[in-house]
Amino acid sequence: MTQLFCRRVPVQKVCPVCGEEEEMIIHALVFCRFATACWHKLHLAVVSFVTDDFKEWFSQMLNRYSKERWCDVAMACWGIWKARNELVWQQKQVQVDNVIKSAFSYFAQWKQTQSFENIALFPNENVGDGVSSWVKPQVNEVKVSVDAAIFPEHNACGLGAIARDSEGMMVYARTCRYWGRVAPEFAETMAVKEALSWSKTAAMKVTIESDCLAVVQVRSKVPMVSSLGLLVEECRQLLGMQNNKELFFIKRSVNMGAHSLARASYSFPDRTFSRSYVPVEVANCIVNDLAS
Ligand SMILES: [Zn+2]
Repeated sequence: MTQLFCRRVPVQKVCPVCGEEEEMIIHALVFCRFATACWHKLHLAVVSFVTDDFKEWFSQMLNRYSKERWCDVAMACWGIWKARNELVWQQKQVQVDNVIKSAFSYFAQWKQTQSFENIALFPNENVGDGVSSWVKPQVNEVKVSVDAAIFPEHNACGLGAIARDSEGMMVYARTCRYWGRVAPEFAETMAVKEALSWSKTAAMKVTIESDCLAVVQVRSKVPMVSSLGLLVEECRQLLGMQNNKELFFIKRSVNMGAHSLARASYSFPDRTFSRSYVPVEVANCIVNDLAS
């Protein structure tokens, strides 16, 4: 805020939360009444340090507390900053309890993602995840590989899906295009959600594969507080509703068919291809997958 003020952007210089002091970083994250209440809730004594430099304050905190509490300090700063932004930009009143809860559930979720990274490094620990060559589904089962593509220059994103039978032959392929700018994981999760919706009425077992590690979070039960979290929750519900549906992570090199469809989705939006017409790029990927 002070930076905007120096650049002559007309903003209020006083703290929008307490209305008592100038809104400097140290005030916003440490000394503001709202921030102090958050620190108090976490049993972290902060106001005893006399400094007006945030970096200096932060290093004093790290010196004073053990490593186990460093994450609490960092997450509290993040939570307070986020809550202030929500107040300023969305006029959303936030409670101290909620700030702490949401910051720590976000952290738990982040840690969970880190352990998924480890799964990818040791694929044998979770059978079915991270296979390096494509595996045909069993007889009377279908595998749907999904992928997403972002088209930032057009403010759009798209997804591609290819469903194959136990012979490795295409059952159907689809493309969808959406307007709007979203993060890659969001588009990838959207692709999973679409595939789950399409296969909702399928009586046979359907396995969905994505090359986005983040979508594996759909299989977990860790709550996520974000717009991505809401989408993940919708996927969880769809997956939970259908006990013959499974979701796996595959390497990008095994997902080329869905990848080329996702790339093509901008020019060929909302198309369904049947067995009788397999697009050339997809046909090549199918042949490669069967050969590997
Ligand atoms: Zn304040």
